[in-house]
Amino acid sequence: MTDTSQIQLVNALRKAVSRTSLLAEGNDPELDHAVRQIRLQISKGADATAIQAILDNVEPLLLKVDEARLTRAKHFRETLHDLIDILDHHGQQVPQSQKNAFESAIRSHWQSVPHWPSLLKEYLALIEASLAHNAQVETKKAPLIARLFKRAQPAKTKLNNQEVLQQVRHTLIGLLSNLALPSDYDEQISELKNTLAQNKNFNDFPKILDELIALIMIAIGNTQEGLTSYLNELNKQLASINDSIVKSYRSQKSLSESREGLNTSMQKQVQEAANAVQQADDLDSLKALINERMANISDTMAQYRKQMLAQEKMSTQSISLLKSKVTRMEKDTSSLRTSLQEKLAQAMTDALTDLPNRAAYQDTILPLCSNSLANGSPLSLAICDIDFFKQVNDTWGHLAGDKVLRLVPRQIRNVLAASDLLFRYGGEEFVIVFPGTPLSDAQQRAEAIRKEVEKAPFNVNGEPVSITVSIGLAELTQENYETFFSRADKQLYSAKEAGRNKVMVDNPET
Ligand code: GH3
Ligand code: MG
Ligand code: MG
Repeated sequence: MTDTSQIQLVNALRKAVSRTSLLAEGNDPELDHAVRQIRLQISKGADATAIQAILDNVEPLLLKVDEARLTRAKHFRETLHDLIDILDHHGQQVPQSQKNAFESAIRSHWQSVPHWPSLLKEYLALIEASLAHNAQVETKKAPLIARLFKRAQPAKTKLNNQEVLQQVRHTLIGLLSNLALPSDYDEQISELKNTLAQNKNFNDFPKILDELIALIMIAIGNTQEGLTSYLNELNKQLASINDSIVKSYRSQKSLSESREGLNTSMQKQVQEAANAVQQADDLDSLKALINERMANISDTMAQYRKQMLAQEKMSTQSISLLKSKVTRMEKDTSSLRTSLQEKLAQAMTDALTDLPNRAAYQDTILPLCSNSLANGSPLSLAICDIDFFKQVNDTWGHLAGDKVLRLVPRQIRNVLAASDLLFRYGGEEFVIVFPGTPLSDAQQRAEAIRKEVEKAPFNVNGEPVSITVSIGLAELTQENYETFFSRADKQLYSAKEAGRNKVMVDNPET
């Protein structure tokens, strides 16, 4: 390797290490400190031994943070397995293919925190399916099932369902205790735990789970943690500035004290000189006396000047220190603000599709509804769900499923107007908000979306795959955003029942 290319390589490595170190920040204060040291050394052009020494210090810290993350993920994985076990132990009929798909999703994603909400959602689908099956069994085939599964006694089936929910609730409460959220969320967590503990109605379950998911999103975003450490840092800097101010005040004070001291000692010496002059007998001794006194006074003056100079120097130093502290604080504040904004943006974006996620939808819909009601401008909302998407996963695997999930929104975008808003609401569900659009226009656009997806030439491993979507649509009336959403959602279910690949519209008049 030539000298220049070696230098280029080393420089590129320096840059890479410096940038990568930015990613490690925000997990552990000790690690943050070490990581900042690395950047500092690198920017100073430190040599290999200096950097190696710092890296040796960082390694155990990185391992510690990684271990904490892994422990949390393992606990989450165990919780999911516990949840499946609950269904198994109660003889619940879990559809095997759905269970397999769920287990394989757990295997692939348990370590990736952004996937946790969708894993919980999948579990919700699983429990819904199995409880629905159980209810059917109870009414139709109880005796046969009772023979097949000796544990499941028909008379107790209903009780079993309650027991299952009870245990699921219990397990989720355990999960909540292990989320590692900042203490600001204590109240929200304990409320949610109470709701979980008291609620016996399965229909409320999706809502409770949503709240749990929202909390996990916060844990992922770590926004609050960032904010807390930012405030701590700010606090420290303010304390140190306060310290400097106190020091500078003290030196001012001692300056004026020594001025005072000079006055007194000068007065005393002048007084002593005057007394001595009065008592002097002859001119020679008077001369000697005055000389002695003058020498004393001039000593005192010189000492005072020396003191003054020293203290002035100290004052100037502490003022410039103060200035540099304030400048640093300003710089830190602005970079921390940027990183907070970045984290917030991350928490609002779905990693797979790059679309705004459900949290972003929640933030957007409320102001849109209030605006629309205040201005009398129409607002429509479509919920769009991929048909038989589970089959895509089951037949071609999860990666193919992911690919379809990225392609469908691209098709949808082809027919949207510039002002329409597209969100990945969860799993294979997308929400489209049409501001300023009445129902009839939104219906045309939804119909266009349906056709655009239907005609799209999807292919997996070179094989053509036909993908369709069902859409439920509603226009906002005098109502809150939740009932607005649920009217569209009902239509989505009607579209599914009516055979899928359909747009169904909620007509308030009928
Ligand atoms: P329907 O027509 O009634 O909507 O049937 P469906 O199979 O589409 O609906 P179901 O709710 O039973 O299944 C949705 C599936 O979506 C289950 C889950 O495995 C899958 N899924 C959810 N999120 C993701 C994801 O991020 N990637 C992949 N590959 N699959 C996902
Ligand atoms: Mg679907
Ligand atoms: Mg769905």
